[in-house]
Amino acid sequence: METKVARLTEENLDHVILEEAGQVIKEGGLVVFPTETVYGLGANALDEEAVKKIFLAKGRPQDNPLIIHVADFDIEKYVKEIPAAAKEIINKFWPGPITLILEKKDIIPGVTSANLSTVGVRMPSNKVALELIKASNTPIAAPSANISGRPSPTDLESCIEDLNGKVEYILGGNESEVGIESTIVDCTSEPLCILRPGGITLEMLKEIDKDVYIDPSVCSKPKEDFKPKAPGMKYRHYAPKAPVKIFKGEIKKTIAKINEMMLNYIENEKKVGIIATDETMEKYNGGLVKTLGSRDSLNDVAKHLFRVLRSFDSEDVDVIFCEAFDETGVGLAIMNRLNKSAGFDIIEIK
Ligand code: AMP
Ligand code: MG
Repeated sequence: METKVARLTEENLDHVILEEAGQVIKEGGLVVFPTETVYGLGANALDEEAVKKIFLAKGRPQDNPLIIHVADFDIEKYVKEIPAAAKEIINKFWPGPITLILEKKDIIPGVTSANLSTVGVRMPSNKVALELIKASNTPIAAPSANISGRPSPTDLESCIEDLNGKVEYILGGNESEVGIESTIVDCTSEPLCILRPGGITLEMLKEIDKDVYIDPSVCSKPKEDFKPKAPGMKYRHYAPKAPVKIFKGEIKKTIAKINEMMLNYIENEKKVGIIATDETMEKYNGGLVKTLGSRDSLNDVAKHLFRVLRSFDSEDVDVIFCEAFDETGVGLAIMNRLNKSAGFDIIEIK
């Protein structure tokens, strides 16, 4: 299929293109569009055949549910009940990078929710996304616009790389502001439960429910008999081609350990990639070093994370060594993505 690519940003909305892309969604086609979290691969969430195309284009397992994106606060059409805590989250954080899990109504087809009785709902803040949803006149089901398993795309070029020829339209231009996927909070659970950490942090949600807790799969490697709340939580994710190893410990010791381990690789003629920060990047004695930004701004680190992970795929490295971050604030989301991209290959430094 021929894919139309249109440079379209929040500062430069082109309503002719938005109408055209909205029409594609209405007719059951696929449109890639920017959001503030990552780029999404969208289809009409209420159209079973259209949603099936998302799974095909991405190579996504059918039992991994999708999030529906809305532009209207009136979500009673899609969900049975909106508990008080969910209402508070909506009032406080929508439009924005947080998805609510709620009991779904029958209008949401099983293929969208992977046959769960619940559905994830989010209102993005990106204006291109909102205008596209309005032009489509339907909620848009959208996972990240990458081939399943790869790091999520946060810029137009990464979407073109993964999905050119597989979708009708690719819209966008700007780098995603947040850079990691939305926080997912299970609002059918009491207290609230965070299924995936993101830009809206645990600390922020504590103001709504002081007992909010983090699903165990967020922080640790799932056990063999792990039964995830959503099938999607069991998949390896965000992975570049080369294996990733996370080095966890005091930062000076981390640098020393990475330098020491790198020697073995170099002796064996292996190429090492290093994911560092502005403060540490000069301290490595070799390897291909890339920085995520300053440790003083975890929001910047989150924003650059997937672009840096992806960039190693064209560098032919044999292994990627990565510094760890404190798991507070948005650091929890950063470490969740890094741990999954490394398949929980973590080297603890004493
Ligand atoms: P993606 O759209 O690729 O970022 O993935 C969406 C993720 O949201 C899935 O992998 C699930 O972990 C989660 N999710 C979506 N819908 C539900 C649901 N109904 N219940 C629990 N988790 C969900
Ligand atoms: Mg994804």
